Amino acid sequence: MRTLNQQNFKNQRVIIRVDFNVPLNEALEVTDRTRIEAAKPTIDYILEQGGSCVLLSHLGRPKGNDPKLSLSHIVETVADVLGRPVKFCSTTVGDAAEAAAKNLEQGTVLLMENLRFHKEETAGDILFSEKLARLGTFYVNDAFGTAHRAHASTTIIANLFKDNKCFGILLEKEVIAIEKVMEKGEKPILAILGGAKVSSKITIIESLLEKVDHLIIGGGMVYTFTKALGGQVGNSICEPDYCDYALELLEKAKTKGVEIHLPVDVLAGDDFSNDATQKTFDVMNIPDGWEAMDAGPESQVLFHNLILKCKTILWNGPMGVFEFSNFSKGTIAAGDSIAEATQAGAFSLVGGGDSVAAVKQFGFENKMSYISTGGGAMLESLEGKILPGIAALNE
Ligand code: AMP
Repeated sequence: MRTLNQQNFKNQRVIIRVDFNVPLNEALEVTDRTRIEAAKPTIDYILEQGGSCVLLSHLGRPKGNDPKLSLSHIVETVADVLGRPVKFCSTTVGDAAEAAAKNLEQGTVLLMENLRFHKEETAGDILFSEKLARLGTFYVNDAFGTAHRAHASTTIIANLFKDNKCFGILLEKEVIAIEKVMEKGEKPILAILGGAKVSSKITIIESLLEKVDHLIIGGGMVYTFTKALGGQVGNSICEPDYCDYALELLEKAKTKGVEIHLPVDVLAGDDFSNDATQKTFDVMNIPDGWEAMDAGPESQVLFHNLILKCKTILWNGPMGVFEFSNFSKGTIAAGDSIAEATQAGAFSLVGGGDSVAAVKQFGFENKMSYISTGGGAMLESLEGKILPGIAALNE
């Protein structure tokens, strides 16, 4: 891996692909700076080493030039996070953009306008990539969240730089965290998969069966498995078309020596709402009129004991409908147990969509070994895919 600390940035004008796709409120103010803060170490390092930084990012999904999605709205926040002035260029490529980049003094930062104002960005257009490449003398990718896309600024541009390209600090950390689970995990390795649907997690389950010793299945996926095993699921979400597949997976796990753990009891409601009447049932016997929305107390204890035995833990997907406070106990309990295991020396990686949201909501942010910044990119990595943005940096 070409890392930042192996490079000489003295007098280099460094194009950094960052992920500043931050949420904005009605007044077009940044409401969450996490992604900007995540890019700070890379920017600081390059500036300290005598380079200057040309920052490229997308914001939202504009169709053409959409003033509401201009990166000009975030310049002040970026300057505030970096603790230094940041210049803004209202074009992304072209003569004016190149002039602004070339005039950049050593130790200074320039943010270019939203990449996605140009449809060539997501199309991975080579001419557009060449124009982007003319903005600097070195290319650094620090945007894990878009590393699974072969876009102009994430992948195609990297092919235009031979050796003068490398991983940013954040991207490097993400890759190392995934490797720690998928390639170099200390045994026993446990994956906890929750979330809504089996159908959206098939490739991940298949890929994880090759890597882990234990797999906890939680969330709404459970009821496709229990129905397949002859259980009664009541009104719980279930994908009957995937029952055969669920049985196949259970068989496959057996032959690979992977233990699959389902909850033994569930907390159900008589309605899909936070205020529903609650009742605990055996996971195999959920009566009609009741919808299972969380892992039950006995399951929480079983999962706790298992989690504490494991040395490598991957968590993707909540254990129940955590958005309803009355059905969030199973997700909180899993977070607590993983935090305790981490404290005791296990490596824990939380990645992909809603589990990251849950971890932040319930205050486990600093209690996990690593929390991924990339939803889709993390999921594709767990599926065993090599991300194009990462492959292009290694070539
Ligand atoms: P995913 O994006 O697949 O990780 O799914 C996350 C969503 O799954 C969250 O919005 C949860 O509310 C939902 N979920 C988890 N458990 C259940 C359940 N038992 N019934 C319905 N939805 C669930």
